[in-house]
Amino acid sequence: MKVLELAKKLRIPVQELILFLKDVDVKVKSPTSKLDDKTVSTVKELWADNRAEKAEKAAAEKAEKDQNNEQKEVQLNEPTITVAKLAQLLDLKLAQVMKIFLQKGLLVNLNSEIDSETAILIAKEADINLKFEKKEKNDQKIKNHLTKIEEAELEDNLDELEARPPLVTIMGHVDHGKTLLLDAIRQTNVVAKEAGGITQHIGAYQVKIKKRKITFLDTPGHEAFTALRLRGAQVTDIAILVVAADEGIKPQTVEALNHAKAAKIPIIVAINKIDRPEANIDQCKQQLAQYDLLAEDWGGKTVMVPVSAKTKVGIDDLLEMILIVADMLELKANKKCPAQGIIIESRLSKQKGPVATLLVKTGTLKTGDCFIIGTKIGKVRALFNDLGKPIKSAEPGMPVEILGIDGVPEPGEMLKVYISEKAAREAAEKKLSVAKASKKLSSVSLETLSKQIEEGDIKNLNLIIKADVNGSLDAIIASIKQIPAEEVNINILHAATGGINENDIMLAKASQALVLGFGIKASLPAQKIAEEENITIKTYKIIYKIIEDVEKVVKGMFKIEYEIVEIGKAEIRQLFHYSKVGQIAGSYITEGKLIRNFMVKILRDGKEIGETKIDSLKRFKEDIREVANGFECGVVLEKSDILKEGDIIVCLEKRQKNIL
Ligand code: GDP
Repeated sequence: MKVLELAKKLRIPVQELILFLKDVDVKVKSPTSKLDDKTVSTVKELWADNRAEKAEKAAAEKAEKDQNNEQKEVQLNEPTITVAKLAQLLDLKLAQVMKIFLQKGLLVNLNSEIDSETAILIAKEADINLKFEKKEKNDQKIKNHLTKIEEAELEDNLDELEARPPLVTIMGHVDHGKTLLLDAIRQTNVVAKEAGGITQHIGAYQVKIKKRKITFLDTPGHEAFTALRLRGAQVTDIAILVVAADEGIKPQTVEALNHAKAAKIPIIVAINKIDRPEANIDQCKQQLAQYDLLAEDWGGKTVMVPVSAKTKVGIDDLLEMILIVADMLELKANKKCPAQGIIIESRLSKQKGPVATLLVKTGTLKTGDCFIIGTKIGKVRALFNDLGKPIKSAEPGMPVEILGIDGVPEPGEMLKVYISEKAAREAAEKKLSVAKASKKLSSVSLETLSKQIEEGDIKNLNLIIKADVNGSLDAIIASIKQIPAEEVNINILHAATGGINENDIMLAKASQALVLGFGIKASLPAQKIAEEENITIKTYKIIYKIIEDVEKVVKGMFKIEYEIVEIGKAEIRQLFHYSKVGQIAGSYITEGKLIRNFMVKILRDGKEIGETKIDSLKRFKEDIREVANGFECGVVLEKSDILKEGDIIVCLEKRQKNIL
């Protein structure tokens, strides 16, 4: 390559490049001198490094200048922050920040969580104006901003829309034939046959009927569907509800149809196993009618197709019906814009690295495209279709396996193509800061929903109700329907008997619904997801209490009441000093238990002398979450300078009232 050409490639004046080459000891005589491949690639790398270095220097200079000119302003997005993160946020050395804390007489370690007021005070000492905006407002701002971006992108695409294949998910009760139906559909239809028939499991596949394509999600069930929705990903246009003709409606059938209804997607019912002698199609239709799914031949609007996944009777009818329903939905996408898609599966392959299956939503994804997925970036190294065949590009509606991501993405995450690697990197960085700020964007609790209703932000109150028996369920539904609510619509998305399960929580998150239980509890996995996803589950023992709470929410007047409960006591037997962690209180648990991160009060001779928080609990040098009655342990408290041997640590829990 000639020096001239390289300069063009790097988009710099040739003279500048010649000077740079001199700097890095590459001898050239004139702009037309030739450089070999190896030198070219080394020079490119060095140039990139050099540029990055320059940019960094310029940024540092600017920062210094800014600091000198005016008081620096920094935004705090969370109501609390750890000391280490505060130092990072203020761009100060940790030691410097710790010193300020010390000067203020505050004993902290780098993991201590401090509130916004303290953070602002500390920042002020360093001559930095730290601003904290109330969380909800800030979240709302980010949310609005994000919607605006998405809207702008959508508008861009409006002009060049073309029809795209429908995305279909099969749902229904266990053992009603979802998997066999998916197999039957795949076998009877042509796309697979074209390439010799070996299908690859990549999480979705396409079939061709009447020269048109339909995309099926290969993980049947409403669980996967709602799990994706929960992340904001809409990957289903039509739900196929499988009902076994010999069994009729079962609990998961109801759950599935309510999940589809909550997502506001059309449902086609496949009445399966009609080859069985006990099959009773009419009985299925009758049962479905009770859930507002009235068959067309009974004067309703729901398409119901009798099929047998075993004998393959009715499969083609079902596919044709999918196309008819798809036509009514007018599914369209722009093929020409930069691609966007949704991850539906991902894994780490030993040979290939991170591998993900993606459903292309808009645009055409091509090999070589630079993209971001969440905050990860990548470049499409290879694409494979559902037959495992390498392909060069993928259009809307198509599932593809993709290589070239710099990490394993999460299902539900969005892939977006950018014109260059630089643009992708910038977008990923921006995303990272937004993601941090909006982590707990949508909490679903009685209190937050109540507030949103009061402020007029939402007009619908979505509920999921679980109860111990049908009698109480009916009574609750009837009473809720009588609640006068002019400004707000109360929608019961799902009501069933039985404990609160993971699916209920996922539906709640995906549809911003409250989960209310009567005389039952939430399963442990459900509690765990609820905790992670910031969803309040509320269970009751008295019906009128549920109605009272719903009324308060509808009026925008609900406030959670808390109570402080003592859950354990420990006696401090010996105090040890360590320069790294400070003071460790060797203690013996005399009642209940101590739990890490919980608040405690300290008693001396029966009188309270202060309150602080458990920073860590140690047993035999190991950090543990909790210690029970009768055990010894080391307790590190956030504020430990007041402690004396013989003091009692009382562990406190802040509990929501009325929760079982
Ligand atoms: P899933 O749990 O809903 O995915 O159900 P499967 O597809 O695993 O099917 C459950 C059982 O029902 C299997 O033993 C199937 O062979 C059987 N099955 C599924 N569809 C039919 C059908 O149309 N007719 C008959 N006779 N059996 C079926």
